[in-house]
Amino acid sequence: MKNKNLLNLLSFIATLVFVSCTNTPQKNSALYQTGTINALLDGLYNGEVNFKQLKEKGDFGIGTFNTLDGEMLGFDGQFYQVKSDGIAYPVNDSLKTPFAVVTHFNKDISTQLRDTLNYKGLIQYLDSKIPTANIFYAIKIQGEFNYIKTRSVPKQTKPYPTLVTVVAKQSTFTFTNVKGTLVGFRFPDYTSGINVPGYHFHFITDDKLKGGHLLQLSGINATVAIDAIHSIQLDLPRNSIFYEMDLSANKEKDLEKVEK
Ligand SMILES: [Zn+2]
Repeated sequence: MKNKNLLNLLSFIATLVFVSCTNTPQKNSALYQTGTINALLDGLYNGEVNFKQLKEKGDFGIGTFNTLDGEMLGFDGQFYQVKSDGIAYPVNDSLKTPFAVVTHFNKDISTQLRDTLNYKGLIQYLDSKIPTANIFYAIKIQGEFNYIKTRSVPKQTKPYPTLVTVVAKQSTFTFTNVKGTLVGFRFPDYTSGINVPGYHFHFITDDKLKGGHLLQLSGINATVAIDAIHSIQLDLPRNSIFYEMDLSANKEKDLEKVEK
């Protein structure tokens, strides 16, 4: 009897320890990514991961939706879908994604930026702030922008065209003297094929009504927060379409057309 009580007590303590460990916020950030950029470029627009699952992996991130139905971004645990009309909609947990990257954002570097620079200038500025080009970064830029140009892509039907074909007909949107947030990542050059090497940002206005994939900007008065990340979980599709794709080709030229 005594032993049984002791066992119960031990198992109770073990449960408490387990629960408190799983509730502890991660101090060291990790990236979680579903899908690969080269599979997306070749028209793999349906994934198996839903936003309920994705939110468990991070409160901050970017990506797209099944059928390529718009640009996705999330921060502070709230995720948005910027459809091809440029309007931002809250994301329902049951929606799925073929390509997304998220993290639990913990800022390591924070700076104030006030400059007339454009996107290229912003890239140079960010490169001067990071300690190395060989790890991952999550970047949040919150403030005012003199000019922002974004795009979004329309929902596709089967047989799916390649991403280059879709982007040739993308809708673009311009914003002047706008308050909002840029959510993005920097991936090392050696990750080409898996994600977008270099910087990739999505934008949303402060009122959470409009946004899209960032194409150009100029004039910033904002807070820049950077999370340096050393770890990635890459979750690959579990279906025959992905298994049978030829992902051996170098797609950097396609990526250039799609991202810029
Ligand atoms: Zn994008």
